[in-house]
Amino acid sequence: MKFSEFELDPRLQAGIVAMGYVQPTPIQVAAIPEVLAGRDVLGVAQTGTGKTAAFMLPILHHLLDGPRGEVRALVLAPTRELAEQIHQATRDLGRKTDLRSMAIYGGVSKRPQSDRLRRGGAEIVVACPGRLLDLYRDGDLDLSQVETLVLDEADHMCDMGFLPDVRRILNKLPEQRRNLFFSATMPPPIRRLADGILTAPAVVTIDRPAPAATVSQSIYPTTEGLKLPLLSAILEKNGHERTLVFTRTKHRARYVTAVLDRQGHRVAELQGNMSQSQRREAIEGFRKGRYDVLVATDIAARGIDVIGIEMVVNYDMPDNLDAYTHRVGRTGRASHTGEAVNLASAVDTMLVREIQKELGSPLEQRVVPDIDYGGFNPHLRIQPQQTGAPAPRGMSGRSRGGRGPRRRAPRFC
Ligand code: AMP
Repeated sequence: MKFSEFELDPRLQAGIVAMGYVQPTPIQVAAIPEVLAGRDVLGVAQTGTGKTAAFMLPILHHLLDGPRGEVRALVLAPTRELAEQIHQATRDLGRKTDLRSMAIYGGVSKRPQSDRLRRGGAEIVVACPGRLLDLYRDGDLDLSQVETLVLDEADHMCDMGFLPDVRRILNKLPEQRRNLFFSATMPPPIRRLADGILTAPAVVTIDRPAPAATVSQSIYPTTEGLKLPLLSAILEKNGHERTLVFTRTKHRARYVTAVLDRQGHRVAELQGNMSQSQRREAIEGFRKGRYDVLVATDIAARGIDVIGIEMVVNYDMPDNLDAYTHRVGRTGRASHTGEAVNLASAVDTMLVREIQKELGSPLEQRVVPDIDYGGFNPHLRIQPQQTGAPAPRGMSGRSRGGRGPRRRAPRFC
């Protein structure tokens, strides 16, 4: 299928060409006609599938008709990074139009945001819920003209405790509007939220196969104490490949960054204790190639849109399969190939089995030949046994970073 078949306004067609998009992705094929037809859409898909353009192209098309100087489309996103990324994509796709987008999030001064809103300086607002409400309460924001609402990464909104804010915002929107709802997963609270918002939606489900199709995934059995030497050896071997390393905590991100920095790697950290400008510097530096390695926590890394991440390293494995899929989805995006490397210790055995079950095949198990594994045997295989079975002996080395048995992350919303 070609983009021209959607019959989008020629100004948007020009934006698509400028972005270098040749063919629509599956979610774009499925969602764009529905949104153009004015239907509500429930998109079960994660970031990395091309969903931003899937909702933004038809929104821009629709907004080209109608007034300027009023907020007519509102996109809610859980993190500043995601809001910024959607805003940038909107600007890029709409570059040949006179439509204006702005991003609204906390952690930066409120004044420029409120000044611009008061001037009527945007038809599209991409916002994190907290700051949006703040500006609304200050009387800076008129939501009475919103024609389209997009709720992006609804499951993360929920995980991060934003659902009460989201509901407050919903109450301030006109009842007559179009709703586009995106979530990578649909646990019951998210399903209920979607049911409450959407009217007879077109449901578009894009499965997770992207990582399986384009990302090679492997595992380096390890103990906590072996993780740093393993990571160094893996980075060494891969030269200057653009690599995203995930750690479980902010503190560990900081520590790993410091160690890699001392070893001479071009590395930056990305974690929640950093200021917005520090985060931007890290992401931009990574995007532009000033850094080869970015060490990040899950929340900080959410929504990072850097094309050409060649490798994702799970220095600490995530808590569950959804989080794993999200992390691995950072590489191999939109048909680029990528590699996901897992430093898995004894506490990760159950998750590794879940991943293998999902993939339908064992993860390739690798060993770095020239590091001293001490008494730990990295050659023993993790068998695709039932979850709950004891870990194989080689994986039972004591892990200082252990978190006890794994459970699915609770959802309090
Ligand atoms: P998203 O899921 O919206 O975060 O998009 C993931 C990445 O895919 C972004 O870097 C987009 O610019 C890129 N992308 C989106 N649509 C296409 C397309 N049709 N062809 C190539 N790349 C795309």
